[in-house]
Amino acid sequence: MRALPATVLALLGLATAACGGVANGVSNSDAAGGQSLDVQAQPQQPAPAATAKAAKPLDGKVVVIDPGHNGGNFRDPKAVNRKVNVLTKWKACDTTGTETADRYTEAAFTWDVSNRLVKILKQRGASVKLTRADNTSVGPCITERAAIGNKAKADAALSVHADGSAPGNHGFHVIMPEKIGGPVDPVVGDSKKLGLAVRQAFKKGTGLRYSTYIGKDALDFRNDLGGLNLSTVPKIFVECGNMKNAGEAAKFRDPEFRQRIALALANGLQQYLKA
Ligand SMILES: [Zn+2]
Repeated sequence: MRALPATVLALLGLATAACGGVANGVSNSDAAGGQSLDVQAQPQQPAPAATAKAAKPLDGKVVVIDPGHNGGNFRDPKAVNRKVNVLTKWKACDTTGTETADRYTEAAFTWDVSNRLVKILKQRGASVKLTRADNTSVGPCITERAAIGNKAKADAALSVHADGSAPGNHGFHVIMPEKIGGPVDPVVGDSKKLGLAVRQAFKKGTGLRYSTYIGKDALDFRNDLGGLNLSTVPKIFVECGNMKNAGEAAKFRDPEFRQRIALALANGLQQYLKA
């Protein structure tokens, strides 16, 4: 055990200075010596006691990040192909997703980008939830992915994907919900605002072009996606690019580029959430 810690000595010194007299219980100060007590007290001036936690830009915001597909989907086609009701149609619970020519899967890509994104959002103060816990399980179904955002009462939800189109096609696009006479209708407007913010940040942050093959200026509106149709919170999908395009596949394989994607998505979300 050490002798009286410096902090205690400092406090004693401060008490003495503050009161202009001798504080109670200072018998130990004799051992330290009046002079040295004061000398020690000076450099120990503590910072203001209540060091307020610095405010962060996304304090109080709830964000749900949905990494598309799941690594385990490949081994359980029966579970994945089970039909679920997405209000405008019945469709498969989930799919395996696409992959690059050299077999880097969309599920692995979305899992990595999403985790990078969660880290950035948390650093900025947001409370963040993922729709799946790993990249080895099956599902969840697209209906459940929407339900997770709803249950969390997310201020924004974002589903991360990459496309699998003809190798000559390239570029990213954002998918937003359309009104379907269903639960998503009240958040169609805010979802579009979210989509516009993310489109701008994604282009700026990644340098990727608007899709050459889907939507107009990287904006696409759909009424056949369960993840959107069933959402009661503002939600979009981002198709980060075409995994079958050699140039974009090489970028997606690069961890540094995936970090750029995550940062761009975080900036887009923040732009929307702060507006
Ligand atoms: Zn996908």
